[in-house]
Amino acid sequence: MNPRFAGIGMTSRRTRERMIARLREQGVAHPDVLRVMLETPRHLFVEEALASRAYEDTALPIGFNQTISQPYIVARMTELLLESGPLDKVLEVGTGSGYQTAILAQLVKRVYSVERIYPLQQRARQHLQELQLRNVRFKHSDGGWGWEEYAPYDAILAAAAPSEIPETLLAQMARRSVMIIPVGQGDRQILKRVTRNESGFRVEDIEPVNFVPFLPGIL
Ligand code: SAH
Repeated sequence: MNPRFAGIGMTSRRTRERMIARLREQGVAHPDVLRVMLETPRHLFVEEALASRAYEDTALPIGFNQTISQPYIVARMTELLLESGPLDKVLEVGTGSGYQTAILAQLVKRVYSVERIYPLQQRARQHLQELQLRNVRFKHSDGGWGWEEYAPYDAILAAAAPSEIPETLLAQMARRSVMIIPVGQGDRQILKRVTRNESGFRVEDIEPVNFVPFLPGIL
């Protein structure tokens, strides 16, 4: 393995093992999610100056006023998605650093990831290439439009919080599918799970969260 991927000291496997132990204490139980997070070098997805903090349970800046999501929230959202069974096509809104994308790519068949800030998207694309994760397509776009071309999706994961669930995303959900999305403004956001089946949509509140806002347009 490339030594930069393996990491040393605060970016080593030992540090990742401690992160996994913490995730377990926080209630994350899905063995595949824990395994993939143990194997994936999260430190590659943050600036080098912050690499030693990559495995702390905190969000870190990735530029352009955005953050890489904290490990707990990545684990929790992925676990919630996988609860509905094996997934073929997953739409991710808000690629950001690409860390969540990399975790998903190892657990589902195909990931379609949309990001509105072009330089972030480019960087994420590069990291996924380095890790040889090839089952991901990226699009520079406002995720409020979803990604019509490949719809419908078995699952949708949003990493930015709109004030209401966008209708377009609901419309791109397959007959049997799930969407995990933070909803609300400022510090009053709730992570929601939308389940779609033959009889319609069901929305459940999961837990309070703190995401960056879901913004319109592209940069
Ligand atoms: N899971 C990512 C989270 C990144 S933060 C990570 O761990 O790195 C959320 C991202 O959503 C930001 O990069 C932001 O630019 C993006 N975003 C916000 N609103 C968006 C929209 N309407 N369409 C696409 N991306 C959006």
